[in-house]
Amino acid sequence: MQILEIREKSIPIHSSIQNAVIDFSKMNISAVAVVTDIMKEGKRVIGFGFNSNGRYAQSDLINNRLVPRIMELSPDQYINKRGDNFDPIRLKAAMLKNEKPGGHGERAIAVAAIEIAIWDAVAKISETPLWKLLGGQEAQSKVFVYAAGGYYDAEKGITGLRDEVNKYLDSGYTWVKIKIGGKSLDQDLKRIDAALELLGSGDKLAVDANGRFDRKTAFQYADALESYELRWFEEPCDPLDYSMNAEVVARYRNAIATGENLFSLQDATNLLRHAGLRSNVDYVQFDPSLAYGVTENIEIIKMMSSNGWSAERFFPHGGNLLSLALTSAFQLGGCESYPGVFQPFGGFADCNPIENGFVHLPEEPGIGFESKADLYNLLSTLARD
Ligand code: MG
Repeated sequence: MQILEIREKSIPIHSSIQNAVIDFSKMNISAVAVVTDIMKEGKRVIGFGFNSNGRYAQSDLINNRLVPRIMELSPDQYINKRGDNFDPIRLKAAMLKNEKPGGHGERAIAVAAIEIAIWDAVAKISETPLWKLLGGQEAQSKVFVYAAGGYYDAEKGITGLRDEVNKYLDSGYTWVKIKIGGKSLDQDLKRIDAALELLGSGDKLAVDANGRFDRKTAFQYADALESYELRWFEEPCDPLDYSMNAEVVARYRNAIATGENLFSLQDATNLLRHAGLRSNVDYVQFDPSLAYGVTENIEIIKMMSSNGWSAERFFPHGGNLLSLALTSAFQLGGCESYPGVFQPFGGFADCNPIENGFVHLPEEPGIGFESKADLYNLLSTLARD
């Protein structure tokens, strides 16, 4: 058995939305296909992967640095010990050959896109959904998801925000997250009041500042938000400023959430060591599709456990089928979801609606991209000869 070819394509995500920091309309994503020589039921096994939203396509790194390192291996260097499948850990190690430690950045995103496609192929070769392959008996057949939206749109205003929250509730979600920090504190509090009127209680609403605030503004928001008893206050300050994060945590009684912009086990470890986070109050949100992929995130979950953190405190960023699979396999707290945006990469199986805040996992072998028609139509363009 061998990998015949690895193909990459940069694809625009067409989301005309903004948070406090970036405009998504010019964003693209790397989609990857790992083409194997294995046939199952007359069809060639091809693993698919992609990096998630919020960062950009990594075509140069993938095509000129990472793929050649895999293609120069002989199959016995990446087959598992039993000889019946590929070994994703060996393949990831091969991609990181001649890479210095630290400075993870764009490299972590490029490796993730390929590593995820390798895991998709591995699960397809095992004829098992990835969530069952990784989680075994412990895997959950449905997981909690929350609707992340509430992006800024000057034309929609508060009325549009209410319509949006109502739409999420009508489509089965029970918690919602909205953006803050793109307008004044007073205007943001009006947005929060409007959302809470519909959601009923603070624990059903999270707010996300996308790492925008300086110390003074983070403190102002922390003081103003505290009495709302919100589910969490996300990325109050620069994601790498652990000491400022610790200051906000010390000032704010309720939950802080962060971690979507940290891309490695070492960064995640430093976050838990130095950012003041409380294992019984706060949340972490690493994104497997940005942070080196599946294997690295399994290591992150183990590291959390050895530091006294329950996996329930991990709500992965990404809003896609891979984050859903890991949430199921490792009983994470829940999975972010972006209804209607970042298409066709965001979202879950077409046949599984959101019900009372939960969504069922797909039963297709692999990560389940075949269960989402618009996504599979796009990915399958990489599979054509
Ligand atoms: Mg966020």
